[in-house]
Amino acid sequence: MNKIELQNIKKKALEEKIPIIMDDTLEVISKILKEQPPFKILEIGTAVGYSAICFSEYLQPNGYIDTIERDEARVKEAKQNIKKAEVEDKINIYEGDAVEILPTLKDTYDIVFIDAAKGKYPFFLKEAMRCLNKNGIIIADNVLYKGYVMSNYNKHKQRTAVRNLREYIAEITESPNLETQILEVGDGLAISKRKD
Ligand code: SAH
Ligand code: MG
Repeated sequence: MNKIELQNIKKKALEEKIPIIMDDTLEVISKILKEQPPFKILEIGTAVGYSAICFSEYLQPNGYIDTIERDEARVKEAKQNIKKAEVEDKINIYEGDAVEILPTLKDTYDIVFIDAAKGKYPFFLKEAMRCLNKNGIIIADNVLYKGYVMSNYNKHKQRTAVRNLREYIAEITESPNLETQILEVGDGLAISKRKD
């Protein structure tokens, strides 16, 4: 991977207020990927490709990442960034709404990274469980949503996201098939290992 390009991609994304993965969150995920190098990763929410490019470093030889993004302009920029970082052979973008694309995926994955519309997390979880390999891990970003998830007084526009994030947290912590940890890094990170 081209590290200088990666720094430029990060800088530009931050300047444009694109919600890329936070440094402390990336550190935690990198550690997991280093310990258990994945062959296939599924990412929901590509944005401009920053996290996917970072994760690609930890793939097993010939491993790859499928990543989904619905915003046309971001897909275009992600493709350029992936090329600049010289990881085109490792990252494939599915362009469109993950709600429609996920049910069509036939592949199975070692890691599923959920980082898109908060109101859809329970649906993303169902699909992640369906295509997760044995010993696979589902990682979800933004699960504490600036603390709104712990508050009873949320603005109307946050309510649907908060309700669905709470449902997501309840499901991952109660599922007999998952071993879950929720960390207060970044905007809240949930790490759920499949244990059946
Ligand atoms: N993972 C990226 C950041 C993703 S930001 C990184 O860390 O670099 C979240 C992205 O998810 C946004 O670009 C948004 O357009 C996309 N998104 C939100 N809901 C989506 C959906 N239902 N289907 C596909 N993409 C979605
Ligand atoms: Mg995020």
